[in-house]
Amino acid sequence: MSNSKIAIVTGGSRGIGRDIVLNLAKRGVRPIFTYNANRTEADKVVALAAEAGVKAVALPLDVGDARAFDGFADRVRVALAELGADRFDYLVNNAGTSSGANLETITEAEMDALYDVHFKGVLFLTQKLLPLMNDGGRIVNISSALARIAMPNRIGYGPIKAAVEALSRYMALELGPRRITVNVVAPGAIATDFSGGIVRDNPDVNKAVAEHTALGRVGLPGDVGPVIASLLADDFGWVNAQRIEVSGGVHI
Ligand code: NDP
Repeated sequence: MSNSKIAIVTGGSRGIGRDIVLNLAKRGVRPIFTYNANRTEADKVVALAAEAGVKAVALPLDVGDARAFDGFADRVRVALAELGADRFDYLVNNAGTSSGANLETITEAEMDALYDVHFKGVLFLTQKLLPLMNDGGRIVNISSALARIAMPNRIGYGPIKAAVEALSRYMALELGPRRITVNVVAPGAIATDFSGGIVRDNPDVNKAVAEHTALGRVGLPGDVGPVIASLLADDFGWVNAQRIEVSGGVHI
């Protein structure tokens, strides 16, 4: 049985989650990660982790469907057994989708979907997985700079991420007796497929973000993954209930 740590990362098939998975693998942490629909990309991440000498396991999960979480916990048990373990150490709640609605256009259905994925998903997936988590473990919930700054067309997304930040502090309080820390990483605009790839592919948006960022460019997945891998390392054991923005200094 290996003694290396095991992390569960949601949304590890693409973007920021993929970079988190690969940075953990580089450090010898064994990732169990989820994808929603994109099995092909998930398989590529498994292959890249194997190149780094680490066995990763990819599992399908819709984080917006809390009724599926009991079944997912059962699949995690099986995956842990494959890795020769019965518990895991780290949970990164990363998976998410965007919404471009404003006050005039947002619908109840769109808000419900955001709530399901970004809030209920984080709360109830964590609840279902906690019995499988080692005491002394770590949780990182992914928020957004948009929880701090208000931007047009983010009336559902920004506030729901702010709610995740409050939720994280409550989780930290309740999990203290188990020595489990809960922190938030809030990326700035990162060039991924997110929001139809707007930050990466729309030159006007890309330039506008860069102009409002102290370090003068948009973020890349590789700016975020190593931060989370570091946060999960032993050196950060006394950092708890904190929000760390990883944005190069956007709108400061
Ligand atoms: P991407 O669109 O690049 O990747 C999204 C990932 O989440 C994919 O792995 C996708 O799986 C998965 N996913 C999407 N919807 C669901 C769902 N309903 N259930 C389970 N998995 C799902 O996004 P990013 O990497 O950019 O974003 C990751 C996180 O970072 C999100 O929480 C986002 O809100 C946050 N964030 C992103 C910023 C940005 O500018 N990119 C800025 C600030 C925060 P699949 O491949 O199968 O579709």
